[in-house]
Order: sequence, then structure tokens, then C-alpha cells
Amino acid sequence: MAKIGFIGLGHMGLPMAGNLVKAGHQVKGFDLYPEAIKAAGERGVEAASGIAGTAQGVEVVIAMVPEGKHSRAVFLGDDGILAHAGKGTLLIDCSTIDVATSRIIHEVAEKAGFDMVDAPVSGGVGGAEGATLTFMVGGSGAAYQRAKPVLEPMAGKIFHCGAAGNGEAVKIVNNMLLAISMIGVSEAFALGRRLGLEDQALFDVASTSSGRCWSLDTYCPVPGPVPTSPANRGYQAGFTADMMLKDLRLAQAAAIETGAMTPLGKHSEELYAELSKGGHGGLDFSGIFKMLDNDL
Ligand code: NAD
Repeated sequence: MAKIGFIGLGHMGLPMAGNLVKAGHQVKGFDLYPEAIKAAGERGVEAASGIAGTAQGVEVVIAMVPEGKHSRAVFLGDDGILAHAGKGTLLIDCSTIDVATSRIIHEVAEKAGFDMVDAPVSGGVGGAEGATLTFMVGGSGAAYQRAKPVLEPMAGKIFHCGAAGNGEAVKIVNNMLLAISMIGVSEAFALGRRLGLEDQALFDVASTSSGRCWSLDTYCPVPGPVPTSPANRGYQAGFTADMMLKDLRLAQAAAIETGAMTPLGKHSEELYAELSKGGHGGLDFSGIFKMLDNDL
């Protein structure tokens, strides 16, 4: 069993670190919030003194922090992981951050002789608690082979998506596609209603024909047709509209940087920003239907 340092014990990091303890690993952790460290202690995570204390004397360091600027500071800061981790330590960044920053961190880490993977997740807090997260991993084959057994106690699925930053890339591209499909399905129901169609009648046809997609047949944004979807419980999240907006912003930053044409991704970002600005960013992301149905 490995000695693991865990930085960022928030909504996701706390249960993830707890699952590593359950799997028999010796885990120490750090967060800027003392309450987070205390909560982690209740799950068997030893309190470390700062980033330095977390990174020293372990075989693996995992970070689960909010954004690129936090990852950069945690890994590359003067008092960061690279400055303190011992030779041969495996570095894993599970944070969802922009691809460009992820690749910079990889480059500096690899030049300093560390194996590193980016390993953002989907599955939310429920997946983190239940150890069913999907990990999308970027990095060398050798780094991936080292990271896989560490990620397993937290995972439902683990995919190696290619070189450095590709875990982040696949996550934001997939979520951009999801936002576009959710908006498309929502527009279809909004128009159908105005044409006098019952939601169920549209669902029955579209979900078994060419309009079919996950946003429709598994996560339907209108109440009724799919009883497990958030629409049936007041759009309680799930995956919030604000989290979707974060990922759409990352996708647009990547599109601008690479010159990719993503007009629907751009428009999706604008629509989710409007939903958030209206004070509804805490709704599940399928709540975009309510805005498009003029019901907010
Ligand atoms: P969170 O804000 O609950 O937790 C992040 C933690 O990182 C905070 O407790 C914060 O204090 C800590 N932190 C920030 N800078 C730090 C530093 N320098 N040193 C130590 N600790 C530091 O966020 P979260 O919901 O756990 O999300 C973490 C990441 O996972 C984000 O990138 C998010 O986009 C991604 N994610 C979240 C979800 C979700 O459902 N919450 C789902 C998938 C992916």
C-alpha cells in the first residue's frame, strides 16, 4: 500500500481521500480550510503541515483544487509540490483546469524528473463518495501505468486519453458536446409545447428515432418521461449550471487558443451565463430548459 499526499479536501477531495484510506493507503492531506482538514481526519486522513508537509515522504501526491491558477500555485509555487516532493514521486492533478495550464505544469514537472498525469473526473460528489468516478487521464504510458492502481479505489472507469493535458481536453470537449445536446433537446420540447405536442408524445418518437441522445433518453429536461432525471425533483443538481458554465468557458478558451470553430459551444456558454446571471446557476444544468421555455 502506498503513502499518498492529498491537497484540496473540498466537496470532491474529501471523499476521494477517504476512499484511498478505505483501500488501505496511508494518506495525509492539506487544505486551506481547517474545517476540511478536520473532516478528512474523521475519515482517517492524517493532517499534514502545508503543501510541503503533504508532498514530503510520500510516493504519490494528488491535487483536487478549483481552477488552473490554484493548480499552478499548488504544483509550481515557490513553496509548492515540485519544490518539496522527493525524487520519483508520482504527481496526479485531478482538478478540472484549462488544457494550456495543465500542459505547462506537466512540462515543468517532467523537466524536473517527475512522472505526472492530469486525471480530471466526472461523476460529481455522488461518484466521489461511492468510488464510481470516471477518470480521464493524460500523460505518458509509464505515468499512466503508475497512476492507474492509485486511482482504482476512487473509480468506476479509468481511460488513458493520450499525452499530457489530454484528460482535461477530453473532459471539456465532452462537456461542451453535452451542453449543446441539452440545449438542443430543451429547444425541441419548448417548440413542441408551443405546437401543442405533449412532452411524452415528442419523447416517445424522438427517443426512439434520429433525435435520440443521452440528454433526451437518460437525462430528459422535462418532468415525466424519464422519472430519474433532475426535472422531476425541481432541477436539484446533479451537475450544476455553474459547473457547466465553468467547463464551457474552459472549452472556449481552448477554442480561441487553437483556432477551432465552435459557434454552438460559444452560444452555449452565453446561454448558461444568462441562466447563471439570473440567479439560477445552482440548478442542475438541465434547468436550462426552464429558461428556454420562458418559465423562470
Ligand atoms: P471545492 O471548492 O469544494 O474544493 C476545492 C478545495 O481546494 C477547497 O477546499 C480549497 O480550500 C482547496 N484549495 C484551493 N487552493 C488550495 C491550496 N493552495 N492549498 C490547499 N488547498 C487548496 O471544489 P470541488 O467541488 O471539490 O471541485 C474540485 C475540482 O473538481 C474542481 O476543479 C471542479 O471543477 C472539479 N469537479 C467538481 C465536481 C463536483 O461535482 N463538485 C465534479 C467534477 C469535477
